[in-house]
Amino acid sequence: MTITRLLIANRGEIALRIHRAAHEMGIETVAVHSTADAEAMHVRLADHAICIGPPQASESYLNTAAIIAAAEISGADAIHPGYGFLSENAQFAEIVEAHDIVWIGPKPEHIRTMGDKVEAKRTAGALGLPLVPGSAGAISTFDEAAEVAAEIGYPVLVKAASGGGGRGMKVVPGPEMLDSLMRQAKSEAKAAFGDDTVYLEKYLGNPRHIEFQVFGDGRGNAIHLGERDCSLQRRHQKVLEEAPSPVLNAEDRERMGATVSKAMSDMAYRGAGTIEFLWENGEFYFIEMNTRLQVEHPVTEAITGVDLVREQIRIADGKALSVKQEEIEFKGHAIECRINAEDAFTFAPSPGLVTAYHAAGGMHVRVDSGLYAGYRIPPYYDSMIAKLIVYGRTREGCIMRLRRALEEMVIDGVKTSIPLHKALLHEPDILNGDYSIKWLEDWLARRAG
Ligand code: ADP
Repeated sequence: MTITRLLIANRGEIALRIHRAAHEMGIETVAVHSTADAEAMHVRLADHAICIGPPQASESYLNTAAIIAAAEISGADAIHPGYGFLSENAQFAEIVEAHDIVWIGPKPEHIRTMGDKVEAKRTAGALGLPLVPGSAGAISTFDEAAEVAAEIGYPVLVKAASGGGGRGMKVVPGPEMLDSLMRQAKSEAKAAFGDDTVYLEKYLGNPRHIEFQVFGDGRGNAIHLGERDCSLQRRHQKVLEEAPSPVLNAEDRERMGATVSKAMSDMAYRGAGTIEFLWENGEFYFIEMNTRLQVEHPVTEAITGVDLVREQIRIADGKALSVKQEEIEFKGHAIECRINAEDAFTFAPSPGLVTAYHAAGGMHVRVDSGLYAGYRIPPYYDSMIAKLIVYGRTREGCIMRLRRALEEMVIDGVKTSIPLHKALLHEPDILNGDYSIKWLEDWLARRAG
């Protein structure tokens, strides 16, 4: 089967990103959109566009029946889900495949396994990935929790098996708090995910978030494309990402890279994936695997020269990966700034009319965005409106170029996170690469006085 017409089940910058890769491969695109997105750039540029429902995502971008109908009506032979929305919905992947449409993503059973955190951890452990010390699986009684906690040592973290976005997570400082915090985590998880299964992990005090990009062809061949450091986070949301990580040396990269590619090869993983680790004192600890393309994938593209969306489409089409591990070279440094329509320091959302827009340019500057002057940012979706990705031969050069590029960006009419990024790029700790997942919130707290 050769893909000739690709339906993009997403919106915004990622829909555009996928459209671009498809057109460069000679593949037609079908945009699906809500009524709120009729004027969006991904709709304007696609070869075909179909409205699938009202603004609420639950009735449009998450509406499985409407998306499948759109694929059939438009004659699309493949669906790319982007990130978010239906991208990690194993049932949707199965429905797509049952309709003889190519699913541009991992095998449904792998999406399902990695979507359950207890199951994901068990699988990762069996595949030889280093885990955060903790319970072997779900914890059902208080006595069991107390025993595990005493063994791994306080502070411990209670986590929800169905968790996401940091919800259902509680840090337990000592044994006297275990009972009440475990109850709270359970009821929060029950309310948010309809599942009160929890497990225990050692709470790491000051780790970095370092993730590896992997790719498999579904037949046992797998590669890695190095790491991304996404330690700069607020409320578990990534703000700025860089590759390579300022703290990893070539030897560690090679060792961990070999470990993750062997794991992917052993499970015959198909498509793009990201294996997320916390990193502390030179040790890696698996936290989760994302079975999809990530927001921050362009920093990997910048330092490897590999088009990750093109690889996803090739693999889904039954072709081999276009690069071998030994052909992948990590060159230079790349940083991505996520630009959101929100107040830079209070983070209050700021949707509305974009009155003027000018994207930064010049050598090694990439802007992935669906913005244009006169576009009205709808209030219904994620606040990310652009990604600025800058490359430099060295980290210092990359930072200088990024400062210059941020000065050039014009987005008028709404508030954006550009002032936050400008401020961060003058902070000595950031310039030195010396920051953990706690850094940004501490900095924001100090700044707020
Ligand atoms: P979610 O799916 O809810 O995002 P993750 O397991 O990915 O949950 O964890 C989200 C974030 O919580 C991590 O990026 C990290 O900042 C923090 N975290 C998770 N596990 C630990 C741990 N064992 N110790 C310290 N922080 C943790």
